[in-house]
Amino acid sequence: MENRVSVILGDITHLQVDAIVNAANNSLLGGGGVDGAIHRVAGPELLEECRKLHGCDTGQAKITKGYHLPAKWVIHTVGPVWEGGNSGEDELLAECYRNSLALAVQNGIKTIAFPAISIGAYRFPLERATKIAVNEVNKFLHSNNSLEQIIFVCFGQNAYNYYLQVMEEIT
Ligand code: ADP
Repeated sequence: MENRVSVILGDITHLQVDAIVNAANNSLLGGGGVDGAIHRVAGPELLEECRKLHGCDTGQAKITKGYHLPAKWVIHTVGPVWEGGNSGEDELLAECYRNSLALAVQNGIKTIAFPAISIGAYRFPLERATKIAVNEVNKFLHSNNSLEQIIFVCFGQNAYNYYLQVMEEIT
């Protein structure tokens, strides 16, 4: 595993990084889970900017400012809803990570934190989602020198333990 990658247990809205990633929905107009938490801390200015983006397709990513968050930027990406695994969910989730990282690089971002996209309300199985997240980040870093730190932020002990396990397995 790349040494630029780490995993922590905590609240992504507290992190002082260049960018945090939001597991948003297609409307980009806020929701529950991590999306709700990010909008609550960022304040109404975030929603105002999001309205101007006219939504986001699943697997894609869009960037806004972080407003009252400690993070300077928010990268909004939309994970797939789990529908059993035969609807392109794996590839769409991989695209979330790839597109978020590409957008980060385009904006000169050096430090970025990801929540566990799609494993909450969107019901993607934790094990499968974690392998995709860790693999995609690792692959991306092999061909990128500008990103300095990537943090996976887990909100529960279960997810945290699993991320640690998957990260140990990957070379
Ligand atoms: P999705 O709709 O993509 O499944 P959710 O927000 O429902 O998104 O869940 C994604 C993950 O984010 C879940 O593992 C959830 O526990 C986690 N999460 C919720 N709030 C926070 C937070 N403040 N910081 C980090 N992770 C969070």
